This record gives sequence, C-alpha cells and structure tokens, in this order.
Amino acid sequence: MQKLKILASFVIIYIGLIGHCFAQNGSIHYTLEFPEPHTHYVDVEMVIDNLSSNDLEIVMPVWAPGSYKVRDFSKHTEAIVAKDEQGSELDVEVTSKNTWLVNTKGKSKIEFSYRVYAYELSVRTSFINADHAYLNGTSIFMYAEGMQDREHTLTVVPNSNWKEINTGLKIDKKNKWAFSAENYDELADCPIEIGNQNIFSFKAEGVNHIIAMVGEANYDIEKIKTDFATVAKVCKDVFGDIPVKEYTYIIQNTNNRGGGLEHSNSTSLQVDRWSYEPRSAYLRIINLAIHEYFHLWNVKRLRPEALGPFDYTKENYTTQLWVMEGITSYYDELLMLRGDFISKQEYLSKLTSSINRVENSPATDVQSLSESSMHSWIKFYHPHENSGNTNISYYTKGQVVAAMLDLLIIKETNGEKSLDDLMSNMYQKYYVKENRGYKDEEFEAEVASICGSEQSAFFRDYVYGTKRIDFDSFLNPFGLHITNLRSNSKKTKLGIRTKVEDGKLILTRTDRHSSAYESGLNVNDEIMSIDNYRINSMNELNDLISRKNAGDVIQVLISRDAKTFTIPVKLKIDNSVNYVIEKLKNRTEKQESLYDAWLNN
Ligand SMILES: [Zn+2]
Repeated sequence: MQKLKILASFVIIYIGLIGHCFAQNGSIHYTLEFPEPHTHYVDVEMVIDNLSSNDLEIVMPVWAPGSYKVRDFSKHTEAIVAKDEQGSELDVEVTSKNTWLVNTKGKSKIEFSYRVYAYELSVRTSFINADHAYLNGTSIFMYAEGMQDREHTLTVVPNSNWKEINTGLKIDKKNKWAFSAENYDELADCPIEIGNQNIFSFKAEGVNHIIAMVGEANYDIEKIKTDFATVAKVCKDVFGDIPVKEYTYIIQNTNNRGGGLEHSNSTSLQVDRWSYEPRSAYLRIINLAIHEYFHLWNVKRLRPEALGPFDYTKENYTTQLWVMEGITSYYDELLMLRGDFISKQEYLSKLTSSINRVENSPATDVQSLSESSMHSWIKFYHPHENSGNTNISYYTKGQVVAAMLDLLIIKETNGEKSLDDLMSNMYQKYYVKENRGYKDEEFEAEVASICGSEQSAFFRDYVYGTKRIDFDSFLNPFGLHITNLRSNSKKTKLGIRTKVEDGKLILTRTDRHSSAYESGLNVNDEIMSIDNYRINSMNELNDLISRKNAGDVIQVLISRDAKTFTIPVKLKIDNSVNYVIEKLKNRTEKQESLYDAWLNN
C-alpha cells in the first residue's frame, strides 16, 4: 500500500509539472465537423501551439457542471490521433480512463484529433442526428492539462443542411461559425445548437435575450417574449442587476421530456413540444425558465468553493446543493407569484405540495440535506429500488427549508429583511467584491448576520439533521397555520409502488415501515391475488384495500423467483399527511404585516 501511495503522489507531482511547463500565451483551436450526422458522430480537432515540453496530457472531463454525476464522457470517444505540423503521427499513450499522454518530440505545435459519438438528448449530454447537433462542452471538448487558462477558439463546419448556430460563446465578427472563449471553463460552459432552429430575440432589463427554438412546438412568439421579459425582471429584482449583456435560451421541444441546465450566459431547456398550452402545462415552462435564469446568480456566480473553478476529472463535493437547488426551487415558485403568473392561493398550494412530498417520504427521517448534497454523486443521481426510503431530494426539501428560512429572516428582522437580502448580499460580497466561492460554513454565518442572532438550531435540525419541521412555529407569526386534512382518516395502505409488465403486477418499491415492508413483500415480487381475488392492476389493489380496516390481515399470493407463496399482510393505517396552509382566524396587525412582507412584497 505504501508503495502505491508513493507512486500515486509522484504521478500527481508529475502531472502538476507537466501543467506548469507551458507558457500561457499560446492558444488552443478546435474544429468540429459533422460529415455523417445521421451516424451521431462529431469529428474534433484540437490544434495546440506554443508547446515547450515533450509530454502533453490531454484530458476528457468526467462530468457536466450542474449535474452531479460522474458520466465518464470518454466512453464515447474513439479514433484518437496526434500529429505534428508535417502530418507525422506522434505517440499517444492511454494513461487512464480519460487521459492521453502525447509525446510531442519537442514540436511546438501539434494536432490532436478524435471522434465523439453523441446520441443522448438530455440537457447534460450531447446529441447529433441528421436534423441538428446539440453539444454540451464537457462531453465534446477535451482540454490540454495546464493550459486551461489559454484562449480557446472554435470553428464549426456545419453539415450542409444546417444553417443556424446558437451558443453563448463570443462570436467572430467576420464569421458566424467561429467563436472564442477566454479559457477552457468558458468554452465548456456554453452549449451549442447547430441546425435549423427558429431564432428570435427580445430586450428586457437592458439585456438582449436570444431564444433558439429547436423543433416544432405550439409556442406563441409574442407571448414568450413578454413572459420571458417578466422572468428576467423578477429575477433581477432579487439581485439588483443582470450580470450579462446577452443571454441565450436553447429550447429543445421534444416528446414528453423535461429538464434544464444552467450556464453563465445561457441555458438549455427541454420541454414537451405541445406544453405551451394549456396554462397549467405552460406554467411548468415558466417555472423552468425562472429556475434556470435564477441560476445566473445562484450557482453560476454566487456559489460554494467546490462549484467553480471545477475539477473536471472527479466528484466536486459540497454540502450546499440545497442552497444552490433548494433555494432556487423556492424562488422558481415565489417569483411566479411576484410575476403575476400565479395567485397567492396557487403559490401556497404549490408550497404545501412540496411540504407533503417531504413529510410523506420515509427518507426524511434518514438523510439530512447536507448529506443529500454531499452524496448526490452516488445517491440522488444513482437511484435504485430502495432510494425512496433513504434519499431525500435537496431540491424539494431544500425548497421547503428555504421557505422556512425566509420566514425566519422576516420574523427575526420584523419584516425589514428577507431571503432576498441574504441572497443579494452574498452575491455582492462573494461574487462581485471578492470573486470567490464561499466556504460551506459561511452560509450559516451570513444567516446569523442578517438575523442579528445565531441560528445554529435551525441548521442543526433541518440542514445537518433530520428533525421534522415544526411548520406552525414558522407560520404562526405570519397569521398562518398548517392543517392535515387526513388527520382523522381511517384509511389503510399497503405502502408499495408497482409496474405492470407483460400483464403482471410487479412490485417496484416498498415504503419503509409500511404494511408491505413489515410483512415481507419484496421488490420484484409479482402480486397475483389478494384473499383469492385476482389482482391485475394497482387500481384493483387499491379498491380491495379500501374496503379493509386497520388491523385486518390480507393473504397476498405472490410469485417470487418463479415460486408462489402466500404472505399474510397486516394492514396499517395510512398515516400520510395532506397539509394545507390556512390563515388563522383572528390575526394581529403584526401578523398581517409580516404576511405582507412575505407575500405582498
Ligand atoms: Zn437547478
């Protein structure tokens, strides 16, 4: 073991030395070509000049910032070749799953080329077909170790059928297919859409917004312009200014997909192509647009240390994903209210549905927000059949805790300050003035500072711990209280999720402490009958259970590993909650004024 350690540290020092052998005043130029887009390949060529060492390490990132999962993008690379200026091939040694060592033979300029297979249409990956190419930086561009601070330039050679290109990269004034980035981080952070997208733009809050609509969809351009201008305004009102002159939305209109990914001056959204109507579906698009636009500050600029500059070769750990995603999720709904997209009643109902999701998850007693954040790399992004019992979402619980934090700040400051002030102060301090990521513990210190008192119990219980939130203690000062509409329910529940496969009802999850869990029903069991009645669907199962009482024992015939069993299951009462937030009957003036400070802001 000791030997291995010494060897490992030598390799690290060696790689470090490689990194520092080169002067920073060279450039790295990439060319992308798509000769056969229907095969989903892009040909990438890197030309690297001003080399002064025999060893040049080329690295492929393993993850895409914003999506905390190791994706090993090098699995889609092939045909790796290095040449000198005369076209003579240079030796390339594979040194790990995502690194290659080029022997430059003392040449000052080399070409490094490779192909990437790209056929995963998500906001974090790349996708190429005959119609278009959507490229995400870290899954396409390798970098030269130690030269990430050089200027990186790019020329795109589109397939002959493609006429348009959109990206947040700086465009060459003379050539619409040529771009530059100050460094590798900037290159990697600007997704690129190439094809025949519909492009329109609008100005809002002094910022030019470009929208690239990919694919057919039922959108109304004028409505999008008006509503996205409101999105810019409500986000700007939290932070005070918009930190870019131009912002690009790349919107993939697809069949029933969803998602978004934030970037420094752009975003990628994926939406269902027919969801621009009716209103209920369209509100999800507005919600997504606010979420990603809010990240322009929270994540892309105001960020914990681990989230920029990045180490692209491994997991980047932080306890703060709940601040990054949970607070952003809180605002993506609150700002819908401020932008008059939804009413106060609708807002409170959205908040309570998140509260219900948190309160009804068995994992709420198991995993804290900070752990969920640290382990997102292995848990949140790697779900399995037991995840519902052990993994909380730092989005949903983060949003609920963010709401309580907002209420706490408003109460502690008598309505003078709110979460808005915390976020804008931190943005000004850590990004604008100090231009650094904040340390994880600094977030708690900033909360104490704005409240004028330590709030360690809040963090101990709800961020680092798994204590259930006492909602009324937060809501009462605002003249509100929470009520469980199911408190007197006598309903029973099995506590399972199922799927129907080849006509069989298969168990996919059992909830911890539920009737099914405690009686020994297992994931992958096929439920054949209950009390001798054939069961073909979850509806039939629920119907049968609804006629039972707590304490009744049902006989569940299952098939497990091609053997049949009967398992007696003692039914427990369904203790899930269905909360609503309501106004207290007799509210004091103070309660009314705090309520106004929260929702009539
Ligand atoms: Zn997000």
